[in-house]
Amino acid sequence: MRRVFCIGRNYAEHAREMGASVDKTAPMFFCKPADAVVADGADVPYPSVTAELHHEVEMVVALGGGGRELDPAAAGALVWGYGVGLDLTRRDLQAQAKAKGHPWDVAKAFDHSAPISALRAAADASVGADTVLRLHVNGELRQQARLGEMVHDVPHIIAALSRLFELKAGDLVFTGTPAGVAALQRGDRFHAELTDVAELQGRIV
Ligand code: MN
Repeated sequence: MRRVFCIGRNYAEHAREMGASVDKTAPMFFCKPADAVVADGADVPYPSVTAELHHEVEMVVALGGGGRELDPAAAGALVWGYGVGLDLTRRDLQAQAKAKGHPWDVAKAFDHSAPISALRAAADASVGADTVLRLHVNGELRQQARLGEMVHDVPHIIAALSRLFELKAGDLVFTGTPAGVAALQRGDRFHAELTDVAELQGRIV
C-alpha cells in the first residue's frame, strides 16, 4: 500500500444530502495517510474531538501500476483489484472546515479513518455498473447503490488523479459514497459489501 486518494461528491444523491452540487468536469479529491488503514475485522476506536463520526461506504480500487497524465483507457488499465472501505469522517469538524474555508485533514485523515476489506484481484472479480455497494450497521441497511450511479467512473477518476499526482503501484482510491451517510456510535457493528467481490466487518469501540 502506498497512498490513499479519495474523491468527494461522486454520487449525486449524496452531494444533495450534503447540500453540495456535483462538478462533472472537475472531480474533488482529498487524501488520507496510508497508516489510517484498518484491516477487515479489526476494532475501530471512536476518534477524539468529535461528537459526529459518520460512515461513508465506498468501493476502493487498488492500482497495480502507475503513470502521469493518463487518458481514461490507460488509467483504467492500472486497476489491480477491488475492495470495499469506509471513509470515516468527523462530520462536525468537516462542517466547521467548510464554513471557515479550512482544509479537511482533521475531518478526514485521522488515525483509523480508513477500514478496508481484503482486496480481490480484478482478474478474479466481476465489477460493473450493476455491482452493488451496501452498508449495514447493527443489521440495519444504511447505504446502498449501484456503481453505475457514480458521476465519475473509475477510469476517469484515475485519469484525473494522474494529472495531479504521479500514480504508482500500491496506490488506493476511495471512489465516493452514495446517499445515506449517518452517525456511528461506540459499540456499533458495521458490515460493508461490494456484492460478490469484497466484504468488510468491524466494530466501533
Ligand atoms: Mn467519501
